[in-house]
Amino acid sequence: MGKLFIVSGPSGAGKSTLTRRAIDFFPDLRFSISYTTRPPRPGEQDGVDYRFVDDATFDRMVARDEFVEYATVHGRKYGTREKDLKELLAGGVDVLLDIDVQGAERIAKRIEGGVFVFVLPPSIEACRRRLERRGDIAPEELEKRVAAALEEIKKIYHYDYVIINDDMEWAFERLKSVIIAERTKKDVLIEEVRKIFNLQEV
Ligand code: ADP
Ligand code: 5GP
Repeated sequence: MGKLFIVSGPSGAGKSTLTRRAIDFFPDLRFSISYTTRPPRPGEQDGVDYRFVDDATFDRMVARDEFVEYATVHGRKYGTREKDLKELLAGGVDVLLDIDVQGAERIAKRIEGGVFVFVLPPSIEACRRRLERRGDIAPEELEKRVAAALEEIKKIYHYDYVIINDDMEWAFERLKSVIIAERTKKDVLIEEVRKIFNLQEV
C-alpha cells in the first residue's frame, strides 16, 4: 500500500509551489491530479496540473459518487477521483495531494493512514502580499481569501506536521524531511528487512 501525503492550508500559503517541487524531487512520488471546473491558467496542461472539466461533467461525477472528496473553493469546484487515488495507493505508489482544508477534512474521514501537512504563511500580511503578487485575483476577492485563511488556520489542530513557509528553500527542506521520515518508519520498511534477512515474525 502506498503512502498518502496531504498538503493543505490556506490559499497563498505556498502549497502548489511546494508540491510541484516535491514531485520533481522524488521520482517515485505521484501527484494526484484533481478535477476542476476552473479554466486553465497560462502554462497549465490538462491531465498534468488538473483535469479541466465543465460544470455538467463535474456534477455528473458527484451524482455517481466518483469523488473521495470534493469542495467548492473560491467559487470553483475541485475534486479527487476515488478510483484514481485508490488504484495508485493499492499499487504501492506514494501519492501527494494538494487540496484545500475542507477537502483534507473529508479525506481524513474516508481514508486511513494519511499524513497531513499544514502549510501556512508566516503572517497574514505575507499571505496578502503573496496573493497580490500572484496577480490572478481582484482586490475584493483578495480580502475574502485573507479572511478565509484565518478561518482555515483554526483547523491546524487536526494535522500531523506544520510548515510555516517563511523561506521557500527552508520550507521545501522541511517538506522533504517529512516525506523521508515517513518513508523511514519501521512499519513501512519491516517487510523489506524481513525479506533481506529472512527474519521470522516474532
Ligand atoms: P497556494 O498553492 O497555497 O495558493 P502558491 O504556491 O501558489 O500558494 O504561492 C502563492 C504565491 O506566493 C506564489 O506567487 C509563490 O511564488 C509565492 N510564494 C510561495 N512561497 C513563498 C515564500 N516562501 N516566499 C515568498 N513568496 C512565496
Ligand atoms: P488553484 O485554483 O489555485 O490551483 O487551487 C485553489 C485551491 O483548490 C487550492 O487551495 C488547492 O489546494 C485546492 N484544490 C486543488 N485540488 C483540489 C481537490 O481535488 N480537492 C479540494 N478539496 N481542493 C483542491
